Amino acid sequence: MYRVIECLTHEHNHWLVAVAALVCVIGSCLSVLISRRILGSGGRRQQVQLVLGSLIAGATIWSTHFIAMLAYDPGFEHGYEPVLTGLSLAVAVGGMLLSNATIAFVTGSFRWIIAGAGFGLTVSTMHYTGMSAYLLPGTLVWNPGTVLVSVLLGMTLGAAAYHRVLFPVTRYCWLGGSALMVLAICTMHFTGMTAFALEFSPLIEVPPQVLPDAVLGLMISAVTAVILVVGFAAISIEVNIEREALEQLEHTAHHDHLTGLPNRLELSRQMERFERAMKQKHDLHAAVMTIDLDLFKEINDLHGHAAGDAVLKEIALRLRSCCAEGEFVARTGGDEFVALKLGIRSAQEVEDFAQRLNRQITTPVELEFVSAALRASVGAATTLEHGRVAEDLLQKSDLAMYRAKMHADKLLCFYDPELDEQSRDRLQLISDLRQAASRGQFELVYQLQNDLISLAPVGFEVLIRWNHPEKGRISPAEFIPVAEETGLIREIGLWVLRTACMEAATWTKPFSVAVNVAPQQLVQPTFLEHLSDILIESRLPPERLELEVTEASIIEDQELTIDVMHKIKAMGVRIAMDDFGTGYSSLATLQAFPFDKIKIDQSFVQDVHTDHQRAAIVRSTLLLGDALKIPVLAEGVEQESELSFLRSENCTFVQGYYFGKPLSLQEVQKIVGPDDLEAAS
Ligand code: C2E
Ligand code: MG
Ligand code: MG
Repeated sequence: MYRVIECLTHEHNHWLVAVAALVCVIGSCLSVLISRRILGSGGRRQQVQLVLGSLIAGATIWSTHFIAMLAYDPGFEHGYEPVLTGLSLAVAVGGMLLSNATIAFVTGSFRWIIAGAGFGLTVSTMHYTGMSAYLLPGTLVWNPGTVLVSVLLGMTLGAAAYHRVLFPVTRYCWLGGSALMVLAICTMHFTGMTAFALEFSPLIEVPPQVLPDAVLGLMISAVTAVILVVGFAAISIEVNIEREALEQLEHTAHHDHLTGLPNRLELSRQMERFERAMKQKHDLHAAVMTIDLDLFKEINDLHGHAAGDAVLKEIALRLRSCCAEGEFVARTGGDEFVALKLGIRSAQEVEDFAQRLNRQITTPVELEFVSAALRASVGAATTLEHGRVAEDLLQKSDLAMYRAKMHADKLLCFYDPELDEQSRDRLQLISDLRQAASRGQFELVYQLQNDLISLAPVGFEVLIRWNHPEKGRISPAEFIPVAEETGLIREIGLWVLRTACMEAATWTKPFSVAVNVAPQQLVQPTFLEHLSDILIESRLPPERLELEVTEASIIEDQELTIDVMHKIKAMGVRIAMDDFGTGYSSLATLQAFPFDKIKIDQSFVQDVHTDHQRAAIVRSTLLLGDALKIPVLAEGVEQESELSFLRSENCTFVQGYYFGKPLSLQEVQKIVGPDDLEAAS
């Protein structure tokens, strides 16, 4: 140790030692910064980093050594053999290539030892190759023990440096790694410089064609310049690439990938900003609007999802381009957008903004393969009247939007606590309902339909159940109307139809299966296509399927409904009129529509044997059925006496709790199997 300090303080020029240290520090920092990037990248970029990192580290080791050699004054004439001097540079760069390649290609937690020891070994090999280029008028006599110590010190400190670089604890660990690298180079070098003694010999002369200090100085300057230029350029390119990647990532996380509009995350960020701005300025006002596209589902159904996407993109583009300063639009769901407007002074300004956005939406979208016109329903809440908490305003504008949606003639509804608060629960229900299918919360139960004479089962009516994770089983009477209002019934209805057909197709006994079809489903342009696909997919013979439609289906667009019904019948599928008697059906409608069955509503069947009015209605329905040659099924039969009455009036089929509550899938499967028909009857 004493020898090392003496060598450093007495035999070296301090200024040049300082320059060597400076080059060593800068070069080590640059090579560490590049080396740690090798770990996280791949492909061509990793290869470039590997080469640049090795070039810089190798050149740093070499320059440090030779500047220190320039600083060393042996007190004799001396020079450097050019080939070995050049070779020592190649050794340094080559060794670093191997060491850095370990980081890139060797897996396993011990690679830092291999890479770090490789680094120390490279420093030592370079040092002793460089020393063999050092010519003096005498012979260098080496002390193998000190040589070994210098090599081991280099390797140990090198490993420590690489451990810091590869396993950083904080973002500043690279500084520790660089410091250890500097220490490894310097310790190895100065220990190595004490490992020899010169045996002076007047017979040995320094040959004239060797490199003098001045030329070596020039070479070192050139190599140092390479380290600085290449190193700083490489690091600044890397930092730029990383910044761009980070920005790209940030942009992707905050924007909707289809339309490029800000997404819900970005909306939250904007709302936080907007809340902060309002806290600072108490007279600053803002509006939050929820915009929902009407008729968008129809475009998807009619033209397919690609067309739907193209329309959404076009609308998003228009919405974005019509926003002025202080206005912001985000896409928050399939066909739902949220707009913010900062700096409003009156509700009129909000209305104008809504109108402006609406014009972008209602202007027909003419694309190559689709032409579509949409409408919007807008709900708004403002800080003028509805509080200053952004999240609250968003919820309130949401509630108001649902009211706007229910009034086809209204574009914009402002939040109204009296009208909208009751809808909160409903909204929760809607939101839960939206996800119920994808979360597998729906289940089908099967209610027997029996022949009235033999009482043998002839088929099953399929009834949906919703197993809500918190509220338990929710009756269809509660959620089907909500599903109808929100249009969700189309998806749910399709799921019921598909599931029921797939199930019925597996039954050994050819029981019929009756599926309830909501009015909206029937007039959906793609309904017939879906029905035919499901029949093909399930291989259920069409005559085993019966669709139950209610009177609500036939009063809206009679011509269209008749047309659809004829097409359904042409496929071989039967149609039943459900809940007969509860609406406005007349003889004329029954005649006009091609029904295969009339189902008398349960409200007329219950206590029919004691209630004269109900008995009269049931009797006249049975007469109607008889006249039109349409069989009648009585729903809601619970008692033997109701059954006897219906039998005496020549009703054909019955359904009701008299035969048991609707059955689960497992219970049905016991009935529809080959051996259990008798058990069911
Ligand atoms: P619906 O089509 O008239 O179905 C008959 C309803 O009466 C069922 O109620 C059934 O459980 C009930 N019921 C049957 N026999 C008796 C009885 O003897 N006594 C009494 N008190 N009730 C009886 P549920 O399952 O609650 O369904 C109610 C309504 O919900 C259905 O009336 C139908 O309009 C609708 N619904 C059910 N499933 C679906 C579906 O998959 N799609 C559509 N669009 N609507 C459905
Ligand atoms: Mg029904
Ligand atoms: Mg019914």
